[in-house]
Amino acid sequence: MRSPIYLDYAATTPVDPQVAARLGRHLTLAGVFGNPASTTHYFGRQAAQAVETARAEVAALINADPGDLLWTSGATEANNLALFGVMRANARKGRHLLTAKTEHKAILDICRRLERDGGTVTYLDPDPDGRIPLARIAAALRPDTVLASLMHVNNETGVIQDLAAIGALTRERGVLLHVDAAQSAGKLPIDLQTWPVDLLSLSAHKLYGPKGVGALYVRQRPVRVRLEPLLYGGGQERGLRAGTLPTHQIVAMGEAFRIAREQMAVEPARIAELRDRLWRALATLGEVTRNGHAEQCVAGILNVSFASITAEALLADVPNIAVSTGSACTSAGNEPSHVLRAMGCDAVRARGAVRFSLGRFTTVEEIDQAVQAISAAVQRLRELSPLWPSSH
Ligand SMILES: *Cc1c(COP(=O)(O)O)cnc(C)c1O
Repeated sequence: MRSPIYLDYAATTPVDPQVAARLGRHLTLAGVFGNPASTTHYFGRQAAQAVETARAEVAALINADPGDLLWTSGATEANNLALFGVMRANARKGRHLLTAKTEHKAILDICRRLERDGGTVTYLDPDPDGRIPLARIAAALRPDTVLASLMHVNNETGVIQDLAAIGALTRERGVLLHVDAAQSAGKLPIDLQTWPVDLLSLSAHKLYGPKGVGALYVRQRPVRVRLEPLLYGGGQERGLRAGTLPTHQIVAMGEAFRIAREQMAVEPARIAELRDRLWRALATLGEVTRNGHAEQCVAGILNVSFASITAEALLADVPNIAVSTGSACTSAGNEPSHVLRAMGCDAVRARGAVRFSLGRFTTVEEIDQAVQAISAAVQRLRELSPLWPSSH
């Protein structure tokens, strides 16, 4: 049996070896292990300096002021801090939040909680290609709308939203904009000096850093975004996120984001080429549909539905190819993808959807092997299927 092929980079990425090496140098007595808050001595000051260097690296990737970044345990916590924090701090203005049905569960679950607490949430429908039309956002904004939360790149389909345009609209209407950028940082340019985005969530482990660390960007200029903390304690991170900073995780995230910035000019183009190679090969099987906008799509993600086959049956037939049905976070349940359903896919097409996601270490050979295995499985399963040929 050939060794398994990893095509699930949107669920998590392996840590870049350079990043792992940096992380390892911030644990032991021989390394920089101090508590960054212990600024009375050398060990603490060294750690604090490492944390600030990392903050500058992360900020540089999104062209932000380093002082506007707060460390968190990941994008999930960043999303929680952004949504609860802003809604609680601005309750006097209103309790309405605007989001989309295609958001990650790490947003939708928070919205359910806000609703149970007496807030109101509007969940926008996307177009069939996954994009949220600007006019639909404009029509849904209300005098009591405090915040709009929309992701930059969708984790299931790879579809990209036009944040500069959305931000211009929300800014004009006096509504704050939060963006979950877990899937876009390091893959698409992000420019917070010019984009009217107020808060933005980041994760390290989607970009060759370790799991368990992320950041929330909170704009302080020209107007400081007001935020209620979720955690109280030692007053770290300007009192907005208490807890001893995990220096090794933070330094690793900084290194991962530094490498990503270095790679931006070449890596996305290389990955897009592999993704297109994969799509061209799968399309020859016939009755394969691509889910989501074909151009406004991040390089590493390809979401396709195979007619007459459920994704579960297909995945079971190719145990050596690591891909996902829907998102990793929802594939435990048996529900078809809420993202594809919101885009208007019927349940059959949604159940036939497979997400391939490629990354830094994906090779042409792996793509060709995956195509071979998937093609053989699709043909085999279609011959067994009472639904096939579906439309002849
Ligand atoms: C992975 C992911 C998250 C969760 O990030 P964690 O750092 O694992 O908490 C949130 N939003 C999106 C879009 C993601 O892809």
